Amino acid sequence: MTPRPEVSIVIPVYNEAQALPELISRLKTSCNLMELNWEAVFVDDGSSDGSRDILSAAASEPNSHTTAIFLNRNYGQHAAIMAGFEQAAGDIMVTLDADLQNPPEEIPRLVEKIREGCDVVGSIRVHRQDSFFRKMASRFVNAIARKASGVVMHDYGCMLRAYRKPIVIAMLGCHERSTFIPILANMFAHRTAEIEVQHNSRSDGDSKYNLWKLINLQFDLLTTTTTLPLRLLTVVGGLISVTSLLFAIFLLVLRLVYGSQWAAEGIFTLFALLFFMVGAQFMAMGLVGEYIGRIYNDVRARPRYFVEKIIKKKNTEMAMKAGKGDKK
Ligand code: UDP
Ligand code: MG
Repeated sequence: MTPRPEVSIVIPVYNEAQALPELISRLKTSCNLMELNWEAVFVDDGSSDGSRDILSAAASEPNSHTTAIFLNRNYGQHAAIMAGFEQAAGDIMVTLDADLQNPPEEIPRLVEKIREGCDVVGSIRVHRQDSFFRKMASRFVNAIARKASGVVMHDYGCMLRAYRKPIVIAMLGCHERSTFIPILANMFAHRTAEIEVQHNSRSDGDSKYNLWKLINLQFDLLTTTTTLPLRLLTVVGGLISVTSLLFAIFLLVLRLVYGSQWAAEGIFTLFALLFFMVGAQFMAMGLVGEYIGRIYNDVRARPRYFVEKIIKKKNTEMAMKAGKGDKK
C-alpha cells in the first residue's frame, strides 16, 4: 500500500482546547475502522488557548496520523479549511468541526458514499442542537444556496462533508477571499448525495460565531453565489419609482378636487413615502457596497491566510523513507 493517505480529514480549530483531546482519540478510533490510509490535518486558526500545544504534541507523536498547520492569526473557518486542503494529500477529503457537534464516528459512512461514486457528500443534521435563531438563519441560507448552486441539498451549514480530490483542486483554484465551501464545491460537483448524521450540542465553550461574524458569513454566501440581487435592485428601484410617480399624480388629483386644506394634512403621507424611499435607497447602496467591498478585497489580492508553521505527521515521512505503507 502506498504511504500516501487515501482519506484526509481537515479540521479547523479556533480555541477548542477543551474538545481536542477527546476529538483526537475518537477520530483515531473511528478512522482506524476504515481499511484505508488516513491523515488528520488540523488547522489552528489563531487560537489563544492551549489548542496549539495540544496539536503540536499530537503531530509530534511517533506514528501520528496528524499534521498541524498554524495560521498566524484568526482568518475564519472557511479560510482555515482552505489552508488545510492545500496541505492534505488524500483522494477523499472530509471536513469536520473541532467542537464534537458532528460526531467523528460518521466519517466512514461519508467516505463509503464517496467511494460509491459521488463527488460531494453532504450531511443533514437530525435533531439539530442549536438555538432557534441559528436554525432560522440556516433555513434562509439553505434556500439561497439551493437556488444559487442549482444543487438541491438540505443542509448547507453542516460542515461534516466529504469531497473527491478534483473538487477540492477546483476550489483551491478559486481565489476569491470570501468563500463558502459547501456551495463552492457544489458548483463543481456532478454527482452529490446526502446522509443523515447525528448532531450534538456543544459540550465545551461557545460557538465561535458571534452575531457580527454570522452576518458577514451570510453576505459572503450571497455575494459568492450570485449577482442577482444587483439586478433585483434595478427592478425594485424601477418599481418604486413608477409607483411613487403614480402616487404623486393621485395626490395631485386629490389636491385639485379637495383643495389645499386637504393637501397640508397629506404631508404626512408624503413623509412616510419619502422615508420609505430613503430607506430603500440606503439598503440598495449597502448591498452594492457589499459587492464592491469584496471586489476591492479581491483586487488587492492579499493572501487569504498566512501559514506560520506546519508540523507534518511523522509516519508518512518515515514510511516514505522506508518505502512502506503507513497503514494505521
Ligand atoms: N472556527 C475557526 N475559525 C473561526 C471560527 C470557527 O476555525 O473564526 C472553527 C471552530 O473551531 C470549529 C468550526 O470552525 O471547529 C465551527 O465553529 P463553531 O462550532 O463555532 O460554529 P457553529 O457550530 O456555531 O456553526
Ligand atoms: Mg459548532
